[in-house]
Amino acid sequence: MHSDNLAGGKVMAGRVAGALVCAGLMTPALPACSAPPQAGSPAVGAAVELAAEGEPGGFQEAERFTEARAALVAELRRQGIQSEEVLAAIDRVPRERFVAETYRDLAYANHASPIGHGQTISQPFIVALMSELLETKAGDRVLEIGTGSGYQAAILAELGCEVFSIEIVGELAAGAQALLHELDYGRVHVRHGDGYLGWPEQAPFDKVIVTAAPEEIPAALVAQLRVGGKMVIPVGPRGAVQQLMLLEKSADGEVRTTRILPVAFVPMVR
Ligand code: SAH
Repeated sequence: MHSDNLAGGKVMAGRVAGALVCAGLMTPALPACSAPPQAGSPAVGAAVELAAEGEPGGFQEAERFTEARAALVAELRRQGIQSEEVLAAIDRVPRERFVAETYRDLAYANHASPIGHGQTISQPFIVALMSELLETKAGDRVLEIGTGSGYQAAILAELGCEVFSIEIVGELAAGAQALLHELDYGRVHVRHGDGYLGWPEQAPFDKVIVTAAPEEIPAALVAQLRVGGKMVIPVGPRGAVQQLMLLEKSADGEVRTTRILPVAFVPMVR
């Protein structure tokens, strides 16, 4: 892990390596994660423009968000995201609707942002990477743990998935559900509850995505993954660096685990 590359991703042969990606809460233990975005990055340039012109909610504003979204997609491509489907999904979801009002002008900067209740919407790079790793197909049933703002769920819905998303903070679950309904993401189902238990009534799932970090992989989530299915999950201690892991369940029920990269997520609480 290189400490000089904390805020972004470094691409090596089409794969991200040597980067600590700030996906969730910026903890005091990881000060570089809370640093403001570096001037000169394309997404930040777009964000600065956003702050400078246009009436809120007006046509000009919508236009500038469209441009900022395109700049973000170009940046994600440079960072090694290769799936055209994932990039197209990022290009379609209005991220400005999922961040807190105060952070709207920075909605397309490539970093995590607060969404209230001490929680964050993940960095776009990590949303894109996790979505790519899942290799979703239209019609996949996906379990998400940690609805948060609902942004990751919206990306999965754009990829044609039916999403079952669990959020432990009641107000976040209600807020995300209302927003996803308003934006017509009818294929996302939000439940207020404890993600450690999964969603047994809807199991098995083709894919599982966990967007808060447990110290160990929860057994119920592995059990609810169908044979041939994939899970992406950050695993590690609270407030320290965790590992983003990819799990694949093979036909004999065996689970193969691959370490992807070091990340910083909010903890998965009990
Ligand atoms: N996917 C979200 C980002 C989530 S941040 C987005 O796109 O905006 C992680 C979320 O996990 C937080 O909202 C937090 O409240 C939630 N969380 C933490 N522990 C949880 C648990 N045990 N079950 C369900 N959700 C949990």
